[in-house]
Amino acid sequence: MSKRDYYEVLGVSKNASKDEIKKAYRKLSKKYHPDINKEPGADEKFKEIKEAYEVLSDDQKRAQYDQFGHTDPNQGFGGFGGADFGGFGGFEDIFSAFFGGGTRRRNPNAPRQGADLQYTMTLDFEEAVFGKETNIEIPREETCDICNGSGAKRGTKPEVCKHCHGTGQLSTEQNTPFGKIVNRRVCHYCSGTGKEIKEKCSTCGGSGKVKIRRKISVKIPAGIDDGQQIRVAGEGEPGINGGPPGDLYIVAHVRPHEFFKRDGDDIYCEMPITFVQAALGDEIEVPTLHGKVKQKIPAGTQTGTRFRLRGKGVPNVRGYGIGDQYVNVRIITPTKLTERQKQLLKEFAEISGQVPQGEHEKNFFSKVKRAFKGD
Ligand SMILES: [Zn+2]
Ligand SMILES: [Zn+2]
Repeated sequence: MSKRDYYEVLGVSKNASKDEIKKAYRKLSKKYHPDINKEPGADEKFKEIKEAYEVLSDDQKRAQYDQFGHTDPNQGFGGFGGADFGGFGGFEDIFSAFFGGGTRRRNPNAPRQGADLQYTMTLDFEEAVFGKETNIEIPREETCDICNGSGAKRGTKPEVCKHCHGTGQLSTEQNTPFGKIVNRRVCHYCSGTGKEIKEKCSTCGGSGKVKIRRKISVKIPAGIDDGQQIRVAGEGEPGINGGPPGDLYIVAHVRPHEFFKRDGDDIYCEMPITFVQAALGDEIEVPTLHGKVKQKIPAGTQTGTRFRLRGKGVPNVRGYGIGDQYVNVRIITPTKLTERQKQLLKEFAEISGQVPQGEHEKNFFSKVKRAFKGD
C-alpha cells in the first residue's frame, strides 16, 4: 500500500499526454540510471520509474490503473482485517516516515500524501453484473475551512516550536563508555509538527482537520465481482502540508443469487425437466440475466447434459466481451404417480426390457456389470 502513485513518480499530471509521459520518463531514467547515478537508492528509484512508465505508456494498463489503482482487482483487497471502513497510514506510518533509514531526518513540514480509505459496498447480484451509479457517504477528515488547516485561531499563525526549532524531533545525548549515543524522538511539545499553536482554532481544536461525511458519486463498472475493488482517485484523506490527497478504494461485496451462480464472466444454472421431455425432446424456456431464452432439448437428453447460451453471461469488467450461460439439465423422477401412470410405465418397461437401449447406455451398463464381477 505504500507504493507511490505512478503519476507522482513520473511527476506528470493525471491527464498527461503520451508525449509528456515519454519525456518525463526519458529525463528521469537518465537521472537515476544505475550506471550513471551511484547514490544509494537510485537503483530503486530507477525501478520505480520504469514500472510507472510501463503502466502509463500502455493505454490499456493506464486505464486499468486509473480505475483500480495498484492492486489487481482479481486479487481482492489484501492486508486489511474485516473492518468496513478504515484509513491506513496513521500515526505509526508518520512515525516511521520520520525515522525511516536510521538517523536520516525528514522535514516535518514536507508535503505528504493523505491516507487511503477503504469502503465496502454491498451489491445485489444483478447490480454487479450490470454496474450502477450511486452516491455514497464516507466519513473522512477534511482540511478545516476556518483556519485553512493551520490549527491556529483566526488572525493568528502557528509559530515555530521552540523546543525542537521546527524539526519535529528532540535529541538527547548520552555519554557512554563506547562513545556518545544520540537518541531522537518525536517532539512531544508539538507532536512532531514543528509548530506551536498559541491559540487554537475553535472549530477544529487545533488539529487543522474536521471530520465530515462527504457524499461521493461513484460508478460501479458492469461485471465487477465479489472482492474486486475500484479506485476513486483523490477521494481519500486530505494531504498533509499541502500534499496530494489519498485515494478511496471501494471493495465490492456481491450477494449471491438464488438461481444463478457466477464463475468469472460465466453464469451457471440448473434446469429441471421431466423424463418424458428428456426422452421425447422439447423446447424449454431458460431464464437468463438478459431475459428469457428458448433452448431446444433434443430427444434422448441425459441428466447432467450441459447447454451453452452464448453471450448470456456477465460483461467483462475490463471490457473484454461478455461471458456465456451454461445450463445443466436435471431430470426429475416423478414421485406421485396415479394408478394409470404406473400402469403405463409398467407397460413401457415390459416393451423395453430391463436394460436400456442406446449405445451410450449399453457401455455404461456393461461397466456396471464388470464392476459386480470383480466382487
Ligand atoms: Zn516541537
Ligand atoms: Zn481550524
